[in-house]
Amino acid sequence: MGLRLYNTMSGKTEEFTPLGDTVKIYTCGLTVQSEPHVGHIRAAMVRDTLMRWLGYLGYRVVALENFTDVDDKIIEKQKEYNKDWRMIAQDNIDTYLRACDQLNIMRATFYPRASQHMEEIINLVVQLIDKGFAYEKKGDVYFRVRKFPEYGKLSKKSIDDLMSGARIAPTESKDDPLDFALWKAAKPGEPYWLSPWGKGRPGWHVECSAMSMRYLGETFDIHTGGEDLIFPHHENELAQSLAATGKPFARFWLHNGWVTLTGEKMSKSTGHYSPIKDVLAKYSANVIRMFMLKTHYRKQLAYDDERLDEARAALMTIRTYIDNAANKYGEMEEILEPMMLDTFTEAMNDDLNTSRALSVIYELIKRSYKEDDFKIAASVNYYYSLLGFTREIESVIEPYKDVMEVVREVEEKLKSAGRSEILKEICAGFHDRIINIKHVNELYSQIIALLLDIRMKLRDEKNYELADYIRQRLLDNNIIVDDTSDGSTFRSGTV
Ligand SMILES: [Zn+2]
Repeated sequence: MGLRLYNTMSGKTEEFTPLGDTVKIYTCGLTVQSEPHVGHIRAAMVRDTLMRWLGYLGYRVVALENFTDVDDKIIEKQKEYNKDWRMIAQDNIDTYLRACDQLNIMRATFYPRASQHMEEIINLVVQLIDKGFAYEKKGDVYFRVRKFPEYGKLSKKSIDDLMSGARIAPTESKDDPLDFALWKAAKPGEPYWLSPWGKGRPGWHVECSAMSMRYLGETFDIHTGGEDLIFPHHENELAQSLAATGKPFARFWLHNGWVTLTGEKMSKSTGHYSPIKDVLAKYSANVIRMFMLKTHYRKQLAYDDERLDEARAALMTIRTYIDNAANKYGEMEEILEPMMLDTFTEAMNDDLNTSRALSVIYELIKRSYKEDDFKIAASVNYYYSLLGFTREIESVIEPYKDVMEVVREVEEKLKSAGRSEILKEICAGFHDRIINIKHVNELYSQIIALLLDIRMKLRDEKNYELADYIRQRLLDNNIIVDDTSDGSTFRSGTV
């Protein structure tokens, strides 16, 4: 069976085949009034996973991700900071793209901006008025929801339910509380564009319909975005598009779960969020990727340090294994027939089940303890890259500090046992081993190897108490020592 994706529209997991020879994807991107947070990165990471997997399956992909750079909130910021809205937008776009690059998130093919597509937006609004789906009132234009019987199909809401909570704000001149703005008349001092209805700017929803149609056509394959966008944003996008063209809009709607912080949804508008730059200052790109891929994209994801530390430990297991294997076998070329490919493919084809795909990697690492095989190492390395992880140097500063602490404890214990010369003896050789080390990853491994040498010496002297102490302290730090007839080896212990 091929790729299956959960479609919010049908509420089912459906077999995916593209309409044409290229898969066309539209992702609702950032409203650029403030800096991006972990929630935005998750949406981009889902697009990245989808693009990588479609690429692996042999599809060509065109992906669009928009920037909402004209919006009430950006206009408020312009007043607050006394800074032009274009500068505010550009700063936040730069921060976002830099973070995505740092995180090895594949770039979309194109990042259209609302402010650069006024002609398409205005044409779409004119079309909707001509067809009777929209009306103008005092320079504003509204979509007439009751004219569109299918409204609510995506979010599974009925017009009657919506009616009970709907109100008309004093600033709005719409006929029906359900109607939503396609175009807003400009107030004094606000940015504006000229239109058949006077000076104004577009509402939020209409830009995504106009820009997706401009670049992907009236019907395209996959629409992605956070689940918080289902209503009203995607429902409105769908209504406008169907009303204007009469043709199907997105064939698949993929929605990722929220990211929560202390149990609540991360959100820019409430100020309850972790900016991505703060997270990147603390954790590496691979750790953040592991944190996200460990959980299926449709589930909610709780952001907290404990979860990220777990992700780091999970990553270190793979990294320690790959780094050790690279030392042993040299650099690993791409492998033609990786092991457990069917299981890995089945997991990814099952609505991009990355957590199950990761378990294939751990299964292979487990096997490597029993059978020593280059093919296992090459397969692990292959899946690791396929999921977008990089072989860049990890920041192992925290784990490094932890093993250095163990060295200090052992030093103390040797001193009080009157055996300080063991340390001197072994450290003499240690200097030769570390002199050519290029990065901290390797130093970390060498310090553990040093502790194992001390342990071996203590065992030779039948000082089992201190030897076992070293083994236990390493285990406390997630490092498992395996004793073989050829000596001791170690591995990261989260498998
Ligand atoms: Zn959108």
